[in-house]
Amino acid sequence: MNLGDMLGGREPAAEAICSRKGCRAAATTQLLWNNPRIHTPERRKIWLACDEHAGWLERYLRERSLWKQTLPLAPGPAASQPPAQSRPEGTNRRP
Ligand SMILES: [Zn+2]
Repeated sequence: MNLGDMLGGREPAAEAICSRKGCRAAATTQLLWNNPRIHTPERRKIWLACDEHAGWLERYLRERSLWKQTLPLAPGPAASQPPAQSRPEGTNRRP
């Protein structure tokens, strides 16, 4: 038993289901978004969408100026790596 698992806020990797309310279709697309009012700028929230709802969700996010990126969802298990790891900046100086 681990309360941390329940409160961690990580999206489950096992099932990729469309985020649209009431839709249970398999997701084919991921929509990356960020709400600057509640998230730090580098934070990315990810919604998953099926073919049918990817456009709908993207428009929803664009209308609210939350949309950042739409990416294909890689098929297959164990493919749900976060798309971008934040790297420390200003470390690319060379002697
Ligand atoms: Zn859907």
